[in-house]
Amino acid sequence: MRILIVEDDTHIAENLVLYLEMKGHECDYATSCRGARERIAQAEFDALIVDRGLPDSDGLALIRELRAQGNSLWILVLTARDTLQDKLAGFDAGADDYLPKPFALQEVEARLAAIARRGKLREDAGVWRLGDIEYDAAAQEVRRGGVALHLPPKALRLLAVMLPHPNRAFSRRELELAIWGHEHDSSDNLRSLLHTVRRQLGETCGVEIVNRHGLGYKLALR
Ligand code: CA
Repeated sequence: MRILIVEDDTHIAENLVLYLEMKGHECDYATSCRGARERIAQAEFDALIVDRGLPDSDGLALIRELRAQGNSLWILVLTARDTLQDKLAGFDAGADDYLPKPFALQEVEARLAAIARRGKLREDAGVWRLGDIEYDAAAQEVRRGGVALHLPPKALRLLAVMLPHPNRAFSRRELELAIWGHEHDSSDNLRSLLHTVRRQLGETCGVEIVNRHGLGYKLALR
């Protein structure tokens, strides 16, 4: 995995880099949100490990920004805060998992591996799979059981955003930004789009979109 570590405590950052590189990963690190933006603009990463308390802003702001741009890299949040509200805020911003400090280095790697594995997801030459659904980025199509679904472009976009991250809650705002490029005044557009996608997937589909009150929407195995 190519991993970007965003952590202003250089001792923690160096330990993470040494450990993860020893495990065969390729690492880079930044000490601020600004530094992270620069690295991400220059290179492709598979995963981001981000601290919440950064000198220029909360790491969650960086995550929100990346998700709004449609960036689907795996994100693990590190933080000294460990309350339920903080965890929910992390997931709401678009994190895939959350690890309170202090943590064992082995656990960081295990969490990253679990994120990559979760939901039996597999990325194979640009094809993301969950249950009987697959999104083929090159063909720009979603297939169920190998058969292409006739989805309107925005419905396709919704699944393209959600499929690489099964079980992760996407907030309404995040989905609206990723699909329409801006927020709507009411939730009608998103609700109607979700209705279309659910109808196209069908009730016997192995995958469903679940509404988690206060957290958002997630794609999960039925
Ligand atoms: Ca910090």
